[in-house]
This record gives sequence, structure tokens and C-alpha cells, in this order.
Amino acid sequence: MEYKRILLKLSGEWLANREKKLSIDYDLVVKLAEQLKEIVKQKIQIAIVVGGGNLWRGASAEKNGIPRSKADYIGMIATIMNALALESIFENSCGLKAKVMCSVNIDQKIAEPFNLENANKYLENGEIVIMAGGIGRPYFTTDTAATLLASEIKAEVLLLGKNGVDGIYDSDPKINPNAVHFGEIGYDEILKRKLQVMDSTAVAMAKDNNIKLLVFNVGGENSIVNAIKKNGKFTIVKS
Ligand code: UDP
Repeated sequence: MEYKRILLKLSGEWLANREKKLSIDYDLVVKLAEQLKEIVKQKIQIAIVVGGGNLWRGASAEKNGIPRSKADYIGMIATIMNALALESIFENSCGLKAKVMCSVNIDQKIAEPFNLENANKYLENGEIVIMAGGIGRPYFTTDTAATLLASEIKAEVLLLGKNGVDGIYDSDPKINPNAVHFGEIGYDEILKRKLQVMDSTAVAMAKDNNIKLLVFNVGGENSIVNAIKKNGKFTIVKS
């Protein structure tokens, strides 16, 4: 295996099952846990940044009269809810060790504050660190939190799982059947073409800190294990 330490960004939307009206699809998370167990067995350290879009999105709440900062803090709380659920399902479904670390002040009975030294300690101990609360400030997203954490913990790759899309295309492949897939692309090209990979703050941060991105379809069987092994179709983003 090429990597020793990876960071997986999970969007909140991916956790949901709209057909079954579930904000968190437990069966899906159990399958995720089984994959993570395989990866941990290979002595690869895993950090996760989880989003909150299945429960709340600050920008859309603002349209309904909730001031942006407050709406964003509610979004950060949504990420904490997801992180706590993931932690329990990981531990109870297949005996993984996981730890939620939070960038928003919250009672330590619920989650401990993020601290780089402790995060490194847990990772080296084979525990999955689940980062909650984004970067802890409004007007940001968990994509930026993921690039920030990847920089801090020196993750070798940031795995960006997309729903039903196996990497980056020059246009939306769900709309344009002739969309062209990139095997590899640079950060500047993403920004120039305004490709919807992550928000532009996150892309710029990844560029400045040289964070390699691996964009893949998180939907398939064993998708994360395959992405790490570079099996199948994906896009690598680097300078
Ligand atoms: N959020 C924020 N600051 C952060 C991270 C998240 O204000 O550093 C808020 C923001 O309102 C966002 C919501 O939390 O809409 C959920 O996060 P995000 O949209 O990144 O989740 P995802 O799209 O990955 O599910």
C-alpha cells in the first residue's frame, strides 16, 4: 500500500438515504466501517472529516431568515451529530476504535477538543480520528476543514468520495454524456474551469499546502479500499 496516513472526507449528503427517509443510513455506515477495518489492518492510519449537509446547510438556511453566522453554527452542530453517530457505529458494528475531536467548544463528555498532538497519538494507535465542527468558524465548509486537517496531520492523500461520479469531468457527466474524464488535473485548472470538486477556498488551500486529492465514486462496493489501491477510475489532483 502506498499510503501510511489518509484523510477521508465524507459529505453529510452521502450518509443520508432519501428513499428510506433516513438522515443516516446505518447499513451504509456499517459497510463503510467494514472497509475501514480492512484499511486499518493494512496499518494505514485514517482520519475522517464529516460534513453536515444531510441535516443542515448554512447557506440555504440564510435564505429563510436565519443570519448566516447562526445558520453556519447550526451546520457545525450537524457535523458533530454525524461524527458522534459514526463513532458509535464504527465501534459497535465491527470493533473499530474511533475518537471524535471537535473544533467547536463542547462539553468533553460529548467530544474532546481538537489538539494536534493527541490526534497524532490516536492515529498512531490505530484509532480513527473523526473531526467534527469543521474549522469551527462560519462561512467555511467541511471541505476546507478537510484540507486544513490533511495539512496539519500531514496526510499523504485526501480522499474525496463523490456520489455516483468516478472523478472529475470537464462538465457534469450526469447531464452531458460526452463529458471528458480527467485522470489527473492541477489545482489551477480546477479553479480556472470552475469545476465543482470542492469549494474554491478548499482548492486554494490544497494547492498552497500541496495536498494530493484522490477523487472517486464512493458509492460502489469496496470503493474506498479500491481507491487506495488505485483500482478503477478516479482522478488525482496535484500541482
Ligand atoms: N460549516 C461552517 N464552518 C465549517 C464547516 C461547516 O460554518 O468550518 C457549516 C456550514 O453551514 C455548512 C454546514 O456546516 O453548510 C455543513 O457542512 P458542509 O456543507 O461542508 O457539509 P457537507 O456538504 O460535506 O455535507
